[in-house]
Formats: sequence, structure tokens, C-alpha cells
Amino acid sequence: MAFKHLVDLHTHTDNSFDGNHSVMFLCEVAYEHGLRAVAFTDHLEMDAFYRDQFDRTALQAYFEVAKAKAVFEGKLTVCNGAELGQAIYDRPVSETLLQKMDYDFVLGSIHNLPQMKDFSYIDYNDPAVDYDALLQQYFETELALAQWAQFDSLAHLTYPLRYIVGNYHKPVDMTRYAELIDAILETLIRKDKALELNTAGLRQPIGVTSPDESILRRYRELGGMLLTVGSDAHYAEHLGAGLEEGYELALRCGFECIALYQNRTPTLIPII
Ligand SMILES: [Zn+2]
Ligand SMILES: [Zn+2]
Repeated sequence: MAFKHLVDLHTHTDNSFDGNHSVMFLCEVAYEHGLRAVAFTDHLEMDAFYRDQFDRTALQAYFEVAKAKAVFEGKLTVCNGAELGQAIYDRPVSETLLQKMDYDFVLGSIHNLPQMKDFSYIDYNDPAVDYDALLQQYFETELALAQWAQFDSLAHLTYPLRYIVGNYHKPVDMTRYAELIDAILETLIRKDKALELNTAGLRQPIGVTSPDESILRRYRELGGMLLTVGSDAHYAEHLGAGLEEGYELALRCGFECIALYQNRTPTLIPII
């Protein structure tokens, strides 16, 4: 199926430590691909905001995207965004940043548990690593993030599974976390926050979106309406990657629209 309004609300530029291309170049590529809108959501890891100089990259990214917005006006909707990692580990710093910056769109993410490394760097074959305990703590942390609710969309829920299941092939019984996941989804709905359908997993060993179909269905079943879709591209060639597949999945799960955010306000865009 061809979709008219492809909106990629999760991308990284070279203002992210793991990004590779400039804002302007990515806008050119997005325009050539016929995307309707793109949000640049560079990493701001709030548990290391000053230590790792995210205060500098935040400003750099903001001004570069502001310039690109002006250059591409009328051709491509450019949203000035940020991916706030671990925002609740330092709430004063996160809340001050959000008051100061005039973002269009803010993703809320958890990449690591407090004082631990990113889930992508953990060796799940190490017998000392209890991944069920880590997952329990992960979903509890996602619930606390949802309750804080100062973001627009909850990014890549089930992120650790990319590594635990996708890379290390560990069996995970998701029924253990069903109640916690319901609580996260219900909190998002109550607080008018979106859930992200992140397509990065489609091009990774796990082969499914984060979250996957079962959680997307559950969110819709509980009354969830606000869904954002993002490629989590770190390279120009991944811009918009998996969006069509994501839209088809969203339709299958009962969503009729996806959300585009400008000035921290959602506009519902029909999928077809
Ligand atoms: Zn992320
Ligand atoms: Zn990301």
C-alpha cells in the first residue's frame, strides 16, 4: 500500500554522539523521499546532561533545526525535537531544559537503569546478569516516566528486548510484565501522551517494532489514540525506514490516524 503522509518523528543527526549526517542533508533526503514531515530528536541523556556536555549539543541541534525549518518551509514540515533519555533520573535538569527550549516534539526514553550502562552494552550471557529482574525494573521505570509525563511520546517501549531477545536469543515470558505494561499504557492515555511505534527493530535481528503488535493492540484496546511513528534513523539511508510497514501494522491494530507534533501539540493525520 502506498501512503500519502509519511511522517518520521524519530531521527538522529550528527548532533547525536551516534548520529552521522547533518540536519540540512537529512532534510534534502526526506524531501526527495517524499516525507511529509520529519522530527529531529537528537539524544539528550539527562542522567549525564552536564557531564557529557549535552547542554552544548542541545543548543547546537536546536539552532540547526530552526534554520532548516526556515529553509524547507513549504516543502517539508521540520519539527524541532529531542529524545530525552532517563529524564526522571534528574527531574530538575529535565524540567528546566523543557521550560527553556521551544521544542515541537519530545520523546521520552529509557536506555539504561540508574547507574547502569545502556541495555545494548550488557552481556546477557553473564550468569550474574538476571535479565528478568532487569526487565521488571525497566518496566517499573517506564511507568515512573509515564507518570512524570513531561514528554509527548513514549519512545521504543520494550527497548531491552532488542538485545535480550534479538541479539542474545534469551526466552522472555512477557506475561510477567503484562500488568505493568497495562499500567504504562493506561497512564499514557490518562495523561494524553502518545505511544511511539519505533521501526528500528525491523532492520535489527529482533525483526519486530518496539513495541510489537501485541502491545500496540493492547494500547488501542485500552482506548489509546495517540500514536507516533519513527524510524530511529542514525543514518540518512534509514530515514523513513519501515514507516510503510509501521503504518500497515498500525492499521491492523485498529489505528486510523498517526500523530504529528508541532509546538508540543498533536495533529491527527489519517493513515490512509
Ligand atoms: Zn532511544
Ligand atoms: Zn533514538
